[in-house]
Amino acid sequence: MSPETRTCQNCKQNFTIESEDFDFYKKIDVPAPTWCPECRMQRRMLFRNERTIYKRVCDLCGKNKISIYNKESQYKVYCRDCFYGDAWNQLDSGHEYDFSKPFFQQYLELTFRAPKLGLQVSHDVVNSEYCNHYAGVKNCYLIFAGVNDEDCMYCNYVSDSKNIVDCLRVSKSEICFESLDCHNCNRLMFSQQCQDSFDASFLYNCKGCSNCFMCSNLVRKSYCIRNEQYPKGEYEKIVSKYNLGSRSLIKDLSNEFGELKKNTLRRSIEGFNHINSTGNYLTNTKNCKDCFDLSSGEDCRFVIYGNDAKDIMDAYAVYPKATLCYETVGAGAPAYNAKFCYLPWTGSNLTYCINALSNCHNCFGCNHIHDVQYCILNKQYSKEEYEALIPKIRKHMDDMPYVDGRGVVYKYGEYFPPNISPFAYNETIAQQYIPLTKEKAISSGYAWFDDSSRDYEITKKQKDVPDNITEVSDEILNDVVECAHNKACVHQCTGVFKIVSAELQFYRRFNLPLPRLCPNCRHYERLKQRNPLKLWHRKCQCVGKTSENGVYTNTSRHQHGDGPCPNEFETSYAPERPEIVYCEACYQSEVA
Ligand SMILES: [Zn+2]
Ligand SMILES: [Zn+2]
Ligand SMILES: [Zn+2]
Ligand SMILES: [Zn+2]
Ligand SMILES: [Zn+2]
Repeated sequence: MSPETRTCQNCKQNFTIESEDFDFYKKIDVPAPTWCPECRMQRRMLFRNERTIYKRVCDLCGKNKISIYNKESQYKVYCRDCFYGDAWNQLDSGHEYDFSKPFFQQYLELTFRAPKLGLQVSHDVVNSEYCNHYAGVKNCYLIFAGVNDEDCMYCNYVSDSKNIVDCLRVSKSEICFESLDCHNCNRLMFSQQCQDSFDASFLYNCKGCSNCFMCSNLVRKSYCIRNEQYPKGEYEKIVSKYNLGSRSLIKDLSNEFGELKKNTLRRSIEGFNHINSTGNYLTNTKNCKDCFDLSSGEDCRFVIYGNDAKDIMDAYAVYPKATLCYETVGAGAPAYNAKFCYLPWTGSNLTYCINALSNCHNCFGCNHIHDVQYCILNKQYSKEEYEALIPKIRKHMDDMPYVDGRGVVYKYGEYFPPNISPFAYNETIAQQYIPLTKEKAISSGYAWFDDSSRDYEITKKQKDVPDNITEVSDEILNDVVECAHNKACVHQCTGVFKIVSAELQFYRRFNLPLPRLCPNCRHYERLKQRNPLKLWHRKCQCVGKTSENGVYTNTSRHQHGDGPCPNEFETSYAPERPEIVYCEACYQSEVA
């Protein structure tokens, strides 16, 4: 089929469906989408609450637990032990399909009958109560979405790591602070996009470096300050003058680091070995378009945050060995042929299921199930009954579509309507990637939740927090500290925060200052350091001997000679941004 332009049901903007997209829809037997890619992404994100957790009583055992469902939500919520225990039957919530009501209406009703798993964690979580979307963690606090961590605090997407505090997307590392997109690093502070580096601070895009300070784009260097090489003794003398335990100094150095990053030469796509792919933060991808944070992917489109994905379109969080999935969140490990699902985990042939938690196959319209097959709306059928009923339901979804409050029509082929999400907009990752004010979210038809039980009185104003960590006494552990943003932001700011004992020990041990912001604001500030999930068509800014704006002078002769580079590309660097962006070939001529 040839490309077609359609109007998005949700935002009313035009969007294009490419001919390869049609091929994919045909292959997995779904109609073409009626929402544009951005609106589809936002709609999927509405179903994933990663980091908004509450104290809530388990509705089965009555014990106090931590849950991603707020206490005002009208669901039955079970703790992990009860959910997987024998005291109830998950198919008791099942219901015969009713051809007099739209499918999504019946599904919405099911969500209130089917008990929910309170927190998305594995059985092997030790002493880490306040973590979500986690497996295999020990002694961790407020970490979200990752695996195999120990002694970590305030992190998102950190895996196989130890002693990581306030980081985003760090893997196989130890002792890191305020860093993001780092891999295999040790004692690395205030850094971004580094690999195989240690004993360093304020590094941007450095590989194999040690003992460096305030540098960018370095490969296999030691004893560098502001990208200049020093003898070891002199390096140590200069660096020892910077007392990183001082909040005011860190503020100045962070500003300097911001300027340094602006002047650092960038490549059109961050990552490496991406063949015929567009997006950002891509490694080892082939034929992946409009994908972000994807490693080991083939034939994917509109995938955000994935690892080992094949033939996947429209997905957030794809885990190893996910194949042939469409409109999913959290598919994998492995998953095959999942459509319109949230967390189709180790399953196959799943359609319209939310939390098909493990080993589910051939299920349609189920909610919070595990280890079952041939179920529809949480009711058991025989294989023959199931196979006879599915085409009838699909037809019924088209004949009697669900229409939401705004007049948006949901037939077979749409993801779940936003009102089926068990979470308010600001509880989900939608708020992280597309932050809205409360007013804007409500006027757009989304739910919003304010936790009034979190209105604590400030006992320590920011101006009264000591500048240097050495001046901080243990009494701070009893304080309710003011967040410098004071809720005047779209970061889910809690207005105040606590310092926990393990955290204070970490700051003291590595001479780091107390934070100024609450954990949510810190997380959102780190998110801002990354490029958006959007692409712009641009041309290479290399004009032969320098960059187009004359700020950067090339250090080598490029393939295209002394004239301007003719290469064009899709990049997540918006045209108005200050960074100089080169095509991959020109970039590689400059940065090894
Ligand atoms: Zn749209
Ligand atoms: Zn805050
Ligand atoms: Zn804030
Ligand atoms: Zn170029
Ligand atoms: Zn060039």
